[in-house]
This record gives sequence, structure tokens and C-alpha cells, in this order.
Amino acid sequence: MNGGSVMKVGVVGAGTMGAGVAECLAQAGHGVIVVDPDPQAVDGARSRMRDSLRLAILLGRTGGPKPAEIAARVRWTDSPTELRDAAFVIECVPERIDLKEKVFAELDRVCGPETILATCTSGIPVDRLAASVTHPEQVVGLHFMNPAPLKDTVEVVRGPRTSAQTLDRALTLLASLDKTGIVVGDGPGFLLNRVLMLCIAEAAAALGDGIADAATTDALFEGCLGHPMGPLRTADLIGLDNVHDTMTALRELTGDDHYRPPESLEALIDAGHLGRKTGRGFHDYR
Ligand code: NAD
Repeated sequence: MNGGSVMKVGVVGAGTMGAGVAECLAQAGHGVIVVDPDPQAVDGARSRMRDSLRLAILLGRTGGPKPAEIAARVRWTDSPTELRDAAFVIECVPERIDLKEKVFAELDRVCGPETILATCTSGIPVDRLAASVTHPEQVVGLHFMNPAPLKDTVEVVRGPRTSAQTLDRALTLLASLDKTGIVVGDGPGFLLNRVLMLCIAEAAAALGDGIADAATTDALFEGCLGHPMGPLRTADLIGLDNVHDTMTALRELTGDDHYRPPESLEALIDAGHLGRKTGRGFHDYR
């Protein structure tokens, strides 16, 4: 642990990102409360975290406490009231504006006046969510990447009302996780997804037009541009449902039709192919 004292940190949502962020926090020694109303999501997150902590030891990524000791720092609950004395809460619920606004309003009721409220949103402006709380200066974006335990850099979003102290506390928390925060301004998609979602949308549309199949598209980005992962493989990793929600939110927020989810993406989702998590997306992982 590096740069900051141990805190009580809340995570709202035990999905892909919530579980990953909770693991990073527990690994760094923080006490973590994860809130999710869905018992199946909680069971899945617990077992993914156990597997990931064991793998970290096997790969020599960590030589610290045993996985069971780290996992014991996390408490799982369906009750947001347990977040009342958290120093920080990181919201990781699905990418829907109305849902996130509801969660922020609830956190405002439940948490103490000092709590920093962070969102892991892929692209909903931080200031839009800050409008649901009494202290908008204590709201910040922490756009962790997936898988959170393996990614060293976080896109940190400073809203127009985020205070310097909040930003400083967010960067200190990231430093305690051995992660670097890169700060950007607020706006739909911030920097990364403003660009990445257009790239995925165009790659999926080109696939639909018969210009190149998924393997060819990704091979071009990887071979010619040196990207470690092409746009369609990246979409599979993010989760195609999540990509769809992010494009839909960006289209709603910007009015720009370039963010319209392409038909090839919708067809995969309709068939239940959501990317790596279901074994098939643009690529087949089975
Ligand atoms: P997910 O669907 O895997 O998980 C969302 C979780 O939130 C589910 O377990 C669900 O039960 C829970 N949830 C729903 N309503 C809730 C509520 N009211 N209170 C508490 N929990 C609730 O989603 P995810 O992929 O983890 O994405 C979460 C957020 O992180 C989204 O905003 C997404 O855009 C963002 N994000 C995702 C990725 C990625 O690669 N998946 C990367 C960066 C950011």
C-alpha cells in the first residue's frame, strides 16, 4: 500500500467493474463494503474475486497477505445504509442515466457529509450525476479500466463543480492502489469513450457492410497500428451489452448519430452473445 491511510470504501454494484474495483481496494488494505441487491451477482462476484486473488499469487503479482485474508476485508450486502460512514463510495451500476441518478440521490440520503462520491461511468457526464446530490463538489469520475486489478491507469474526470480537495483525495486513493490517475475534463464519453465508442461503432458497421470480418479488423489494428487489442476484441472484453448502453447514452447526450449502435452489434446482443463473459461476441472464445 502506497500513498494514503486505510479507509472504509463503499462500492455500489457487484458486476464486472464493482468486483474488480473492490478487489483492488481490498488488496491495498482498505475495508470494503459492496452493495448489490442481486444475490446472484454477489455470489458471482465473490467467486470471481477469490479466483482472481489466487491467480495473482500464482502469477507472482502479489506477495502480500493470503487471498482469504484479503477477501475478508470485503463485506457484501444488499443494504446501502451500510455506506453511511464510508470515506469514499464508488458507484459501478449499469450505464443507464436514470439508474445512476437514482443511486446518487440514494447515496446523498445515506452517506455522511464528508463522503466523496465517485462514479465508474463510461461516459455519463459527472456533473449530470452531481446534480442529484447536496455536495456536487464532492463528486468525481473514476473511470477504471477492465479488468481493474490488471490496469495501472484510471481516467479521472473532474466535473466543473468538483473541488480541488475532492480531486486530490481521489488521486490519493488511486495512489494507494498503485494506480495512476490521468485527469480529463467533463463531457459525454470524457476522452477515452468519446473516441473508442466511435471506433467500435465504425468497425462493427464495416463488418456489417462486408468490408472486413472481425479477425481481419482486429489484425489490422494490432499489426498495422500496434494496438495490443483491436476494437472488436476490446468490445468483447468490455461486454457488448455495456458497449450498447454506452453508445446509447452518448447518442442521447450528444444527439450525434455516429454513436447509434450498429445492426451487427444489436444482432449479437439479441442472440445472447455478449462477448467474453458469455464465450462469444464478435469473436468466439469457446
Ligand atoms: P455489470 O452489468 O457487470 O454490473 C452492474 C451491477 O450493478 C450488477 O451486479 C447489478 O446487480 C448491480 N446493480 C444494478 N442496480 C443496482 C443498484 N440500484 N444498487 C446496487 N447495485 C445495482 O456492469 P459493469 O460492466 O460492471 O459496469 C458498471 C459501470 O462501469 C457502468 O457504468 C459501465 O459503463 C462502467 N464501466 C464498465 C467497463 C467494462 O469493461 N465492463 C469498463 C469501465 C467502466
